[in-house]
Amino acid sequence: MLKDSYRHKGLRRQLIQSLRDKGIRDKRVLQAMNDLPRHYFLEKAFEEKAYEDIPFPIGNEQTISQPYTVAYMTELLRVEKRQKVLEIGTGSGYQAALLSMLGARVYTIERHQELYERTTNLLESLGFGHIRTYWRDGYKGLAEFAPFDRIIVTAGATEIPSALLDQLATGGVMVIPVGKKQQKMHRLTKKPDGTFLDEVLGPFRFVPFVSGKSTSADTDNT
Ligand code: SAH
Repeated sequence: MLKDSYRHKGLRRQLIQSLRDKGIRDKRVLQAMNDLPRHYFLEKAFEEKAYEDIPFPIGNEQTISQPYTVAYMTELLRVEKRQKVLEIGTGSGYQAALLSMLGARVYTIERHQELYERTTNLLESLGFGHIRTYWRDGYKGLAEFAPFDRIIVTAGATEIPSALLDQLATGGVMVIPVGKKQQKMHRLTKKPDGTFLDEVLGPFRFVPFVSGKSTSADTDNT
């Protein structure tokens, strides 16, 4: 049974203060991160470290992004209540849950079958059953539910997938880390004439955005 103790809450408050010190300003993002227990999304063995500002393995050679990165990307995304948001790279489900707490209608795609199944069950058990999860190739997005007001890609892409650009609503915003070994964060805003404003921001390191789906039997060499 998952439990959110006073100690966890205290550690979380300290983490939020450190995010503020590192420049995160959006009060709604900070409040949501304060309210959402990150330790629920990590393996028990890492519970003690859940409130340090570091990334963690979540199985299948994947990681849950470090809290600063999650806060930074979520702030950039400028999510409004009721907006349709597509996340690529469900991973642990933490980012998806955070978007849901901000009032978004969340759709999230994961290419690893095992992660997809585990996280779908976890989100359901935490009361986030309304988050729609898909075992798909994120490069293709989710054409049947497009357009999206916001798209957030949480794996490092070498190029910006054109399907995702197509599935963004006019006036919509996409946040995506782009680059090979290291990525630059991009915020793309779709203008009424269909072109994009592309803001290139700071450097980050993400696990790779790999095309295609993967079943439990596969292993990645990336
Ligand atoms: N948002 C996650 C962090 C995920 S790490 C969280 O909050 O925990 C990046 C995730 O992207 C990994 O789980 C990886 O399997 C997934 N991924 C990589 N390429 C993908 C693709 N083409 N489609 C969908 N998911 C992909």
